[in-house]
Amino acid sequence: MRRYSAFAIAREALRHHKGWPRAWASPEPRRRYDVVIVGAGGHGLATAYYLGKNFGITNVAILEKGWLGGGNTGRNTTIIRSNYLQDASAAIYEKSRSLYETLSQELNYNLMFSPRGVIMLAQTESEVRGYRRTAHANALQGVKTEFIGPERVKELVPIINLTGPRYPVLGGLWQARGGTARHDAVAWGYARACSDMGMEIIQQCEVTGIRQKDGKVAGVDTNKGPIDCDKLALAVAGHSGVLAAMAGFRLPLESVALQALVSEPIKPCMDVVVMANTVHGYMSQSDKGEMVIGGGADGFNNYTQRGSFHHIEETVRALVETFPIISRLKMLRQWGGIVDMTGDRSPILSKTPLAGCFVNCGWGTGGFKSIPGSGWGMAELMAKGHSPLTDGFSLDRFREGRFVDESVAAGVAH
Ligand SMILES: Cc1cc2nc3c(=O)[nH]c(=O)nc-3n(C[C@H](O)[C@H](O)[C@H](O)COP(=O)(O)OP(=O)(O)OC[C@H]3O[C@@H](n4cnc5c(N)ncnc54)[C@H](O)[C@@H]3O)c2cc1C
Repeated sequence: MRRYSAFAIAREALRHHKGWPRAWASPEPRRRYDVVIVGAGGHGLATAYYLGKNFGITNVAILEKGWLGGGNTGRNTTIIRSNYLQDASAAIYEKSRSLYETLSQELNYNLMFSPRGVIMLAQTESEVRGYRRTAHANALQGVKTEFIGPERVKELVPIINLTGPRYPVLGGLWQARGGTARHDAVAWGYARACSDMGMEIIQQCEVTGIRQKDGKVAGVDTNKGPIDCDKLALAVAGHSGVLAAMAGFRLPLESVALQALVSEPIKPCMDVVVMANTVHGYMSQSDKGEMVIGGGADGFNNYTQRGSFHHIEETVRALVETFPIISRLKMLRQWGGIVDMTGDRSPILSKTPLAGCFVNCGWGTGGFKSIPGSGWGMAELMAKGHSPLTDGFSLDRFREGRFVDESVAAGVAH
C-alpha cells in the first residue's frame, strides 16, 4: 500500500493526480476462502480487518450486493459516544470510541474523527434521574461522562432555547470525548487496509443462498457463482433476517427504515452534538456547514431505503422548540436506511445454530459508533470461539432472559 502523506499529495499535485494507485482491488471471486463475510458495511469490513491484523487470517472475502459502504454505514448521522448504561454495552462502545481516537493514524486514512463532545438533553424529571444514574454507572465503568446543569448546556450550545414551550432544558449528560467521524471514510479506510492484507472485497455480489453440509456451513451461493468457506459471518444490518432464513434459523429482529435529513450549509453555529430524546430529534453541524438532523424510525416493518415527508415534519417540528433558529433553514436532502432492531436495543454478536456461521447484527439505530469495537470482538469470537467483548451479546440471551436493556440509552435514533 502506498502511504498517504502531505509529501504524496504534493508529489501527485505536480503530476496532475495521475499516479494514485487504486485504494482497494476489485477482483472476481475465487471458488474458496477460509472466511466469507457477507456485507461490506463498517461491521463486515472491521471484522475482516481485525481477523487479519489480530489473528493473521487473511484468506477472506467480503461480499457486497451493492457498493462498499452503501448501506447504513454511508447513511448514518455519525454520532460516536459510549455513555451506555449496562456494563457489557459500556465495554464494547468504549473500546470502540477509544479505537476511533487513533484509527486515522492506524489505517493511514483520514476518518475526520472529531471528538467535539455529545450532550444528551434532559428535558423531563425522569430524564434527569435516568442520566444521573447513567453518569454514576459510567463512573464505575471507567467511561468519562458527567451530568451538567442548564447553564453549562447554554455555554456549550449558545443557540439552544432552554425554556421551550413544552420541555424546558433541565440539564444533560455530557461526554466530552464523544463526537463524529466521516462515515464513508470509515468504510473506505478499512477496505483499503483489508485489500492491502490480500483480502478480496467483491462488490455487486449478492448472496442468494447459504449451503451447509453435516450441520456445518459449507459456503454461499451468489449471483457470481458458488463460493466455499470454512467460516461465514453475516453483517448485513437490516437484511439479517433474510440471510438467517437462508441459513435455516430465525433472529429476534425487526427491520425498519430510519430517516435523517440535512439543511443547506450555514456558518458555524454549533460545535457539539446535541440529542433531545424527549422531543425526539438530534443535530450536529457538518464540516461543510449543513445541520445534520436525525429523525425517527418508521412505525412499521419495511425495506424501503428512502425518506418520507411526515418524518421531516415531525422531526423538525420537535427540534424547533429547542433550536428556534432552524425554523429559518432550507432542507437540502433526506434519506433512509434499513436498521435491525432487537427487543432490548442491544446488538447480536454470536455463534448461530448453524456451526461455522456467525452473526453481527442488531445494531439498530446506533451501530456506527461501535464499528471498530464490534469488529475487534467479532474477529476474536470467530478466531478463538469467544470474546469478552461479545460474550454478553450472544443469541442465547433471548432464550435465557439475560437481556442487555439499553432502551433508555438508545432511546433516540442515533
Ligand atoms: C438514518 C440513520 C442514522 C443513523 N445514525 C447513527 C448515528 O448517528 N450513530 C450511530 O452509531 N449509528 C447510527 N446509525 C446506525 C448505523 O448506521 C448502523 O448501525 C451501522 O452502520 C450498521 O453497519 P453494518 O455494517 O452492520 O450495516 P450496513 O452498513 O448496512 O452494511 C450491510 C451491507 O450488507 C449488504 N447486504 C445486504 N444483503 C446482502 C446480500 N444478500 N448479499 C451481499 N450483501 C448484502 C448491504 O448492501 C449493506 O451494504 C444510523 C442509521 C441510519 C439509517
